[in-house]
Amino acid sequence: MAAEEFDPRTDRAFLAWARAVCDELWLGLGETRGSNDFLEFLGKIFTDNGELPAEHLAPLVQRRRIELAERYMRLFIGQARRETGLAVAEALCSSPPDDREPTGLTQVGDSVIRAIREPDVAVETAEAVQDYVMARYRTVWPVCPVHRIGFHPVSADDAPAWECSAGEHRVPMLDSR
Ligand SMILES: [Zn+2]
Repeated sequence: MAAEEFDPRTDRAFLAWARAVCDELWLGLGETRGSNDFLEFLGKIFTDNGELPAEHLAPLVQRRRIELAERYMRLFIGQARRETGLAVAEALCSSPPDDREPTGLTQVGDSVIRAIREPDVAVETAEAVQDYVMARYRTVWPVCPVHRIGFHPVSADDAPAWECSAGEHRVPMLDSR
């Protein structure tokens, strides 16, 4: 098969398999026409392995979610350390897939990360780090530099952002600050 001819957005055999395994694993496949990094991830697995059974796909989905959550946790904790001066500790844990969590449990602080698309993992992890910094260090992070009040995470057209509680403006979440 010529890899360049496979398109996960239109390949019928792939989409049928992807929908079936997502059902089995309680996942939403998400957008199949526009940008969807999870669809691309499944497409790569399909071209490499064919119709992998759900129980073999589950650990791959979990590993990907853990890798994304870990990357964003480190990014946000690094920012929180620089901006608060606190020695914020890393806080990620996971447990393998089972009957109750078909793609395993991934936690940042006390928050469960359930997203599978990268922009959604970024937003969930940002909120998790925010809650964790508040719960463990009794500190508001991040704080709007203009209004000196807390930001909250929002996802607008796959562009994760911090929105000021004053409601007037946003700062892109993934710009290096
Ligand atoms: Zn503000």
